[in-house]
Amino acid sequence: MKLMIIGAGGVGTVVAHKAAKMSAFSQIVLASRTQSKADEIAAAVGGGRIATDRVDADSVEELVALFEKHRPGIVINVALPYQDLTIMEACLRCGVNYLDTANYEPKDQAKFEYSWQWAFDDRFRQAGLTAILGCGFDPGVSAIYVAYAAKHYFDQIHYLDIVDCNAGNHGMAFATNFNPEINIREVTQKGRYWEDGRWVETEPHQIHKPLTYPEIGQRESYVIYHEELESLVKHFPTIKRARFWMTFGEEYLTHLRVIQNIGMARIDPVEYNGCEIVPIQFLKAVLPDPKSLGENYTGKTSIGCRIKGIKDGRERTYYIYNNCDHEQAYKETGTQAVSYTTGVPAALGAAMFARGLWKGPGVLNVEQFDPDPFMAEIGGQGLPFVEQFDIDLEV
Ligand code: NDP
Repeated sequence: MKLMIIGAGGVGTVVAHKAAKMSAFSQIVLASRTQSKADEIAAAVGGGRIATDRVDADSVEELVALFEKHRPGIVINVALPYQDLTIMEACLRCGVNYLDTANYEPKDQAKFEYSWQWAFDDRFRQAGLTAILGCGFDPGVSAIYVAYAAKHYFDQIHYLDIVDCNAGNHGMAFATNFNPEINIREVTQKGRYWEDGRWVETEPHQIHKPLTYPEIGQRESYVIYHEELESLVKHFPTIKRARFWMTFGEEYLTHLRVIQNIGMARIDPVEYNGCEIVPIQFLKAVLPDPKSLGENYTGKTSIGCRIKGIKDGRERTYYIYNNCDHEQAYKETGTQAVSYTTGVPAALGAAMFARGLWKGPGVLNVEQFDPDPFMAEIGGQGLPFVEQFDIDLEV
C-alpha cells in the first residue's frame, strides 16, 4: 500500500524512519508545510525510499490536489491536531484511509474531544474507508494495552490508571517534548477523570502523589485529563474509575506557572507593533524545537497501564508498561523518546491496516481493533512491554 505521511516534525521523523523499513508500504511520500524539513528527513532515511512534497494541511483543496497527485492508500497525520478535520475531509473526497495520533482541537479553544472526529463515522462507513484515531503511545499503545488486558486477563476492568513518566534530562532550563503549543495547552488545562459514570473536574495539577516507575524510582505524578480516557470509558463500560497521571518536575511546573501568569500561554491574538500575534505561538518560536532535544537527552520514559478488575470471580491487578531510552531512540532515528514512542505505533498501526490485520470501515479508536497482531510486533519495532500481575498498584 502506498503511504502518505503529513508532518515533518519530531514524530514525522520517526514514522518515516520506521515505515521505510516496513514491507507493508510499497511507496512513501512525506509532505509538510515546509518541504525542506521533509527533504532533510528523506535524506536521513536514505535509499531513495521516501519522496517529499509540500502541503498546507489547513486547506482541503491543497490536500485533495496532493492526494490526487500521489494516490496514497493511507495517510498518517502527524502534523498538528488542528489539521485532523481537513485531512479527514480530503480523505473522504479522494478515497484515502486515515490514521492520527492526537484528536482534533480548534485553534481558538484549548479543548480536545472526539466528538468532531466521531461525527465522520457514517461518512467513512459509507465510503468503505477507515479512520484510525489515536495511534501514538498515549493515546495509542495505552489504549491497546487496555484492549489486550480486557481480551486476555480480565472479565471486567474496574479501575484504570494510565501512568506516564518522563525521567529524561535534556539539560535545558525549560523545553517541551513535543510541539510546545499543543503541549502547553494540554498540561495547563483543568484536570478531569472518570468516576462512577461521570466526569470529575479538578483544578490543574490538584491531585498528585509519588508513584514508583520501574528502573526509575519515585516521581511526583499529577492527574491530568488525557484524550484516551474519553474513548476507553465508552468502549469498556465496566470501568468505574479511569485516571491519567503524568510526572512533572518542580522546575517545569514553576516555568509553566510563570508562562501562564505573564500571559504567554494565551491563545487569543494580541496586537504588537501594529500586527497581531498569538502569545503561545510566539513562545513556540523562542522555545527549543523538541526535535533538537534528542542529542543531549539521557534517561528514560516509562508509560503504562495499572489495572484492577475481576477474572473468574477473583480480583486481580495488572501492570503493563514500556520503558524507552532517550539515547537509544536518538541513535536510531535522531529524535528523543517522546517522538519515538509516538512515531513507532503510528507506523505499525498503518502497517496493521495495510496488511489487513486491522479492518474497518468507519472511524475507530485503536482499542476497537484486535490488539494481538499489534502486540506481537510492537516489541520488535523497538517498544517492548513488561507485564506484572497481582502487585500493589500504588494508585
Ligand atoms: P512538531 O511541531 O515537531 O511537527 C509538526 C509538523 O507538522 C511540522 O513539521 C509542521 O510544519 C507540520 N505542520 C504544522 N501545520 C501544518 C500544516 N498546516 N500543513 C502541513 N504541515 C503542517 O510536532 P510533533 O512531531 O512533536 O507532534 C506531531 C503530532 O503528534 C502532534 O499532533 C502531537 O499532538 C502528536 N503527539 C502525539 C503523542 C501521542 O503519544 N499520542 C505524543 C506526542 C505528540 P513546519 O515545520 O512548517 O512547522
